Amino acid sequence: MNKISLRIYPDEVLRTVCSEISNIDSDIVKIVESMKEIMIKEKGIGLAGPQVGVTKRLFITQDFSKNDELDFLVMINPKIKEESGEVSSKEGCLSIPGYYDYIPRFDNISVEYVDLNGDLNSKVFESMQSIVFQHELDHLDGILFPDRLAKIRKEIFFKKINKEFKK
Ligand SMILES: [Zn+2]
Repeated sequence: MNKISLRIYPDEVLRTVCSEISNIDSDIVKIVESMKEIMIKEKGIGLAGPQVGVTKRLFITQDFSKNDELDFLVMINPKIKEESGEVSSKEGCLSIPGYYDYIPRFDNISVEYVDLNGDLNSKVFESMQSIVFQHELDHLDGILFPDRLAKIRKEIFFKKINKEFKK
């Protein structure tokens, strides 16, 4: 396995469609521990596998139901079952540092994911927890938040980041 480290745009790993996790083994546990360390260090609120070079369907987010910033949710093979409402908020991404824009998302989502114990969870998320879930789920399909901008705005955004983050 390659070293677990934060990957920055235009690293091609960020465009990979990730594969399902069939077995939560000690490697997965180690990956999650490293991801938590990176998320704390970088002051993020969510981090997906490909952002650290791991092309598996896995992400972690801050648990917004807790006041303690150090509470994480670990979501393996996450899926959206139902979605409703609209919300738009200013998003950023640890893999595109320094850039932000308003992205439309669903306000309420019903989701399923497997946690680190291997248990299937069904949850309803709203506002921040919902937005972060959708942002991180996109990462597992190789989608970055500016991909969701309207055409002109998207072109301008990519022109700027392509200039700043050269290959
Ligand atoms: Zn991101």
